[in-house]
Amino acid sequence: MVKVVKFGGSSLASAEQFKKVYDIIKSDDARRYVVPSAPGKRFSDDTKVTDMLYECYAAASKGKDYKPVLDKIKERYNGIINELGLSISLDKEFDIMETCFVGKAGRDYAASRGEHLNGMVLADYLGYEFIDAAEVIFFDDNGNFDADKTDETLSARLANVEHAVIPGFYGSMPNDTIKTFSRGGSDVTGSIVAKAVKADLYENWTDVSGFLVADPRIIDNPKVIKTITYKELRELSYMGATVLHEDAIFPVRKEGIPINIKNTNAPEDEGTMIVESTSKKPDYTITGIAGKRGFITVNIEKAMMNSELGFGRKVLEEFEKNGISFEHMPSGIDTMSVLVHQAEFEAKEQEVLAGIHRNTHPDSIEIESDIALIAVVGRGMQATRGTAGRIFSALAHAHVNVKMIDQGSSELNIIIGVKDEDFEKALRAIYDIFVLVEI
Ligand code: ASP
Repeated sequence: MVKVVKFGGSSLASAEQFKKVYDIIKSDDARRYVVPSAPGKRFSDDTKVTDMLYECYAAASKGKDYKPVLDKIKERYNGIINELGLSISLDKEFDIMETCFVGKAGRDYAASRGEHLNGMVLADYLGYEFIDAAEVIFFDDNGNFDADKTDETLSARLANVEHAVIPGFYGSMPNDTIKTFSRGGSDVTGSIVAKAVKADLYENWTDVSGFLVADPRIIDNPKVIKTITYKELRELSYMGATVLHEDAIFPVRKEGIPINIKNTNAPEDEGTMIVESTSKKPDYTITGIAGKRGFITVNIEKAMMNSELGFGRKVLEEFEKNGISFEHMPSGIDTMSVLVHQAEFEAKEQEVLAGIHRNTHPDSIEIESDIALIAVVGRGMQATRGTAGRIFSALAHAHVNVKMIDQGSSELNIIIGVKDEDFEKALRAIYDIFVLVEI
């Protein structure tokens, strides 16, 4: 059994957290390859080392005073090293880093040092080999991740290595400069390493005990999702649920490697298993609920619209021309509505409306703003009658007016549009009816 374990920033924010990580790794022989993030926040208004590095680089590369931030960065690492009683010194690394910052080695290089240095400290603490991600993770000339080259090099490099620490978040370009993934990208590195070593499991250690059925900022103590499929996860993440970087799914999904989201602060909790498919029934009919605010609908009306060939295409073309992608498009016989992100639409509003008028000659166009979308997601809905009925009666009881309904053909999700002001009330009503009422 081989496990790749990735630890997020809060799991490695202090010496105390490092100790927990040590115990977790050493308690299971299968945990052979470790991917760390940079030290994250120790308390809520703390600053992540990655953010300090961006700030330090911005100052250094502009010839401004970067020393105070650099000192803070050094303090974070030296604090961890000293508290753990390690003998490793990062002084040489700090000197190289400083020279490169002043020499404008690039923002990505700067940010990558967070993981690089943390990886060196963790490798020393664990007594494992440190492998610089720049030597095994590659991007192509266009800055896209080079999956084939990486997989080949990384699997060969790790073939005879029993234990290793490979820092997350970055790799190298063909010209040897450093490039990072987008923020939170250590998740992606973990997934790439899991694929390369054909791991049985990719454990992603963070500070929550898995994906929650609903957003804890809205629902008190929501339940944890025990098992979720990649498709369900995609629906929920798209609608705003965040725990895992979206790109972390692709490498492992192709190989059928499950991801287990685990909590460094409560390692005995089972966490959430993310799998390709499963026969395990979800605890409730729904797997999760997520939502986003900030949409508008453009409602178009025209008599005999239904018999006009190409009407929908002409309308959507106007959005496309203006670089606006649409979310949903519910329609009636003589009406159609296009749901788009308010922020994207506002800047191009008049161009789009004029275009629709010119090309489709509608009877009227009305805009309704401040719409929120809620996605109710669950593989369990396919086999269960009455799910939609329960959602809508719960919403009616909560006095929430439904503006739009959209059920995907997969029956994996039901999307509901409500007024922004009803958003939280609607989420609570749906959560209650499925999770609190259902047993
Ligand atoms: N340290 C990077 C960030 O803060 C990457 C990561 O933590 O995954 O975004």
